[in-house]
Amino acid sequence: MLTKFDVVVCGGGAAGLTLANLLADMSGGTLRIALVDTKLESRKHSPRTSAIAIGPKQMLASMGAWSLESAFAAPVRRIEVSDAQESVEAIVPDLTFQCAEYDEALAWIIRHSELETHLRDIARSRDIRFIEGEIVGYKPNGAFAQIELRDGGALGARLVVAADGAQSRLRELAKVQCVEWGYDRSAIVATLRHEESHADTAVQIFYPAGPFATLPLTGNRSSLVWTETRDRAERLRRSDINELTAEIQRYSADRLGSLRLEGDIASFALGYSHVRSFHAERLVFIGDAARRVHPLAGQGLNLGLRDAAALSEIIIESARLGLDFGSISPLVEYGRRRNLDSVISSSAFDVLHRIFAWDASALRMARKTGLSLVQSSDHIKALLMKEATGFSGMYPERFGREHAIR
Ligand SMILES: Cc1cc2nc3c(=O)[nH]c(=O)nc-3n(C[C@H](O)[C@H](O)[C@H](O)COP(=O)(O)OP(=O)(O)OC[C@H]3O[C@@H](n4cnc5c(N)ncnc54)[C@H](O)[C@@H]3O)c2cc1C
Repeated sequence: MLTKFDVVVCGGGAAGLTLANLLADMSGGTLRIALVDTKLESRKHSPRTSAIAIGPKQMLASMGAWSLESAFAAPVRRIEVSDAQESVEAIVPDLTFQCAEYDEALAWIIRHSELETHLRDIARSRDIRFIEGEIVGYKPNGAFAQIELRDGGALGARLVVAADGAQSRLRELAKVQCVEWGYDRSAIVATLRHEESHADTAVQIFYPAGPFATLPLTGNRSSLVWTETRDRAERLRRSDINELTAEIQRYSADRLGSLRLEGDIASFALGYSHVRSFHAERLVFIGDAARRVHPLAGQGLNLGLRDAAALSEIIIESARLGLDFGSISPLVEYGRRRNLDSVISSSAFDVLHRIFAWDASALRMARKTGLSLVQSSDHIKALLMKEATGFSGMYPERFGREHAIR
């Protein structure tokens, strides 16, 4: 017999877990919610971190998922952006963003695996059914859609949420088209321990292959996110640890004093994708299943959290009015609320990557001029900060719009 739920969230990454928690919270336990993933236990510890903007952080706090500050989340109070195309030796910040004295931070840096563990623990304490299994089939059928698992199991849902990541199987099963390309770049990710204080500053230096970023962690530690061509990233990752450390030291322009690597080193192939539609029959897309962006602005998960916020509001509003939240109108409304923010943000990050990757001298000049124009304009900086702090894109009222930068 088919076990039926109101909402089946497919994918237990940070976006899927956040949505499941929001729905359980906002519905007061009246919605039957299931969360399906191939692996529901804690994953291997990874050095990957996420910059969480203030808007999404407030949302996580509202559902009890932000009691982490003292443990590992570190504030970013200043951001420095440099164009290092000329020489590694002569790097000075071209663009800076500073946290106002009365603001807590511009963003927070957290360990991604710890955020997921924390969200999973909260979800387990709520009325959410956890199902371990691989999704292999999706069949919309009138008032329900059927989800099929590899082990032969099946679930019914009034609404299926595809939160199954960048290689979304549900996108394929529902034949939802997607625009996508690879960047021939990988991000090398590691934790650095250093001599000098990072002074709560996130530093991003743009080299021809992509940005070299150090993001503040607790203590004298920073998270490294270094974009390189895929071949070079692979060579660097396999190279002798002393050689790699020396190269990181050189690329960091010695800003952090002498440094050493701590723990594992990982690398992630980078690419872009965006769905042509945020919904299909009784199915919606959130997180990386909806779009995948270059990590240069640290916004991929933040966009996914904004999807979860918008979708939870629509589902709860519809449920309160006694409407069928899996029917076409609420799904169209979800697409309407998310499409503009998602398309503009993902395209902007793609364009930024291309502008910095182009090494023509005319473009280099234009880039320098553009950076100094932004640096001298408080208005443009405020607009950029509104995006970076996660308050753009029709941010839901209940998650603290009153704190938005206007
Ligand atoms: C190097 C790097 C740095 C980044 N830095 C930042 C940052 O600073 N800030 C930021 O906001 N974002 C950042 N991002 C982006 C961010 O990590 C992603 O946007 C986010 O993790 C996506 O979460 P998700 O839940 O949508 O997908 P995922 O985390 O990919 O989760 C998908 C889940 O679906 C499950 N799944 C997949 N297929 C199936 C199936 N068939 N059946 C069952 N389960 C399935 C998987 O097991 C997985 O648990 C970064 C990304 C990279 C690569």
